[in-house]
This record gives sequence, structure tokens and C-alpha cells, in this order.
Amino acid sequence: MVSMNWEIIGHEWAVNLLSRHIASDQVRHAYLITGPDGVGKRTLAMRFAQALNCTDSKKAGEFCGQCRACQFIQREQFPDLHIVKAEDVGGILKVEQIRELQHQLALSPYEGKKRVALLLRFHEANDNAANALLKTLEEPAPKVVMLLTAQSKETLLPTRSSRCEILQLRDVSSDQIEEALVERGEEHGNTALLARLAAGRPGWAFHYASNPELLDERTEHLEDLIKLLTTDRLERFKHVELWTREWERERKRGGKHPRLRALGALEHWVSLWRDAMMLAYDATAEQRNIDRAQDIQMLVRALPREQISEILGKLEQSKRDLQKNANVRLVMETLMLDLPRILEG
Ligand SMILES: [Zn+2]
Repeated sequence: MVSMNWEIIGHEWAVNLLSRHIASDQVRHAYLITGPDGVGKRTLAMRFAQALNCTDSKKAGEFCGQCRACQFIQREQFPDLHIVKAEDVGGILKVEQIRELQHQLALSPYEGKKRVALLLRFHEANDNAANALLKTLEEPAPKVVMLLTAQSKETLLPTRSSRCEILQLRDVSSDQIEEALVERGEEHGNTALLARLAAGRPGWAFHYASNPELLDERTEHLEDLIKLLTTDRLERFKHVELWTREWERERKRGGKHPRLRALGALEHWVSLWRDAMMLAYDATAEQRNIDRAQDIQMLVRALPREQISEILGKLEQSKRDLQKNANVRLVMETLMLDLPRILEG
């Protein structure tokens, strides 16, 4: 077995498999790496691109991180690395981008051992783009390796995914994430909390660790939720109006799209509600919002567990609606009608 250090958090099996493919000269033409956002798909693909092209590795299947190829891949400036993705997260990967890629893949590598095409968030490809790629997958050019990332393999038609070796990345344990945060010097009292809240996604934990204002936003969102639960319909609608007005103002000043703001709030609400459901059903799954134990217990005391489960479904549905570009205000208002009223005391 090849020993290596790809500096990947978790996913040892995937590193072993890819490394073995290189060492035994069995690199496939295409790989599809799937898993939730922030789990490490892109990082794994980038390390694989480095291992494929490193000119100074001690062993096949490893990489040095220092040679020209390793450094330029890391900086996304390697001439034989082509990164194709939708312009924005949640955007559309278009057929013109695939055509452009195909022209480049037809050439032999400039300096690398392999020409690597990295197609990120391929679930955002529209049908034309996905169909155009099919041809490339069917008629592989020599010395080309295609690396696709997507949220799940179902985002590709079976005809396409069957031409790829599929690596399904699973959640990374909170212990591993916490260890990685500490190792990278991200310790500031919130390490354990971030590792739990990350829900298996190291990328999420690092993003929050380096943007401390995000935890403050979370506190605000969770406090809003708890407060809203005690209010009546009128009060809730007033809140939605205030939020949407403020979010719209912020967008005009160059801030985030209101949809992303709403999704941000919902992500934390879902997380808290999920903890309440786990507790209500005595599930052994780890609690994530460990700093909110009192709120979670309050929910479990105040609501029958069937209702907790039902509301969790509605919160998740609202998230999906927003991801599909539903009207922000309408989604939030509908949710306000669905949330139960809890009387204080
Ligand atoms: Zn190298």
C-alpha cells in the first residue's frame, strides 16, 4: 500500500484509491466526486491533479507540493489544468464553456504529464452543457483526466455517470474536523462548536473559523427564531417585511443577494430544529448546536415530536424553494404560517 499525505481531512479511502490508481498506472479517464458542499470534493480533485503531475514525488501516487507543477496547480495557474464552473454558486454552467474546454483538451499537454479538466459543481450544468460533455466522456483523448464534482451522482444521467469512476465522499467526523481546526491554529474557544455545526463538512468549519462575524450572524438568526415562535402572525409578517427591506437595502450597497441571506438564516434554523428532532426521538446522533442546549430542550418540551418532525420538513422545503429561485418574501411568509406558536413560560 502507498503511504501518502495529501493533507485531506477525512476521506482516507478516496485518497488511497486515487493514489493507487496512479501508482499502478490505472488512472481512469474520468472521475465523479460527489458529496455535500464543503465536504472536500474540490480539494480532493486538486490534490489528485497535483499527484498526477508532480515531477518530484518520492513515490508514484504522492506529490511534493514544491515543484513547479505542484505550485502552479495549487495557484490554479498550471497551463494543463482547466477549471470549468458556473460563474456564481447557484449559477449555470453553459454549453459554450464545455465547447471551449473540448478545444483545449484536443491539444496534447503543454508541460504536464496529464491534462486535467476540473468541472466543478457539475450539477449546475444545463442540459446542453451536460450533453456536450457526453461526447468527451465517450471518446476519451489520451493524456486527459476529467474530474467532475457534484452534490450527488443523481445530478448526472446514468449514461454519463457510468463513464466515470464515482467517489462518494461521506461526512467527516466532528472529531476529525476539530483536530484539523486545532492543527491549523484556528483555536479560539469555538473549535468544538464549529466542528459540530459543520455537520461533516471541513470546508464549512474553515470558512466559519476565518470569518468570525458569521457566528454572530448565526446567533442573531437563532435568537430571531426563538423570539418569533412566541409571537403571533401579525408580528411575524412585520418581521419578514423588515428583513426583506433590510436585505434589499444591503444588496443595493453591494451586499449579498436577499436569497442568500434567507438561505443563511434557514440553514441555522434547520440545524437547530434537527437537533430538537434528534433529542425528541432519543436518537444517538450527535447534537450540533451545543451552545443552544436550553433552546433545544425548550422546543422538545413545548412541542409533540411529530410536530417537530413536520416543521423540520417544512424548513427544509423552504430551503429547497429558495434554491429554486422562489420569491424570498413569499417563502418566508409561508414559513411564518407554518411555524407553531409557543406560549412563554
Ligand atoms: Zn511536486
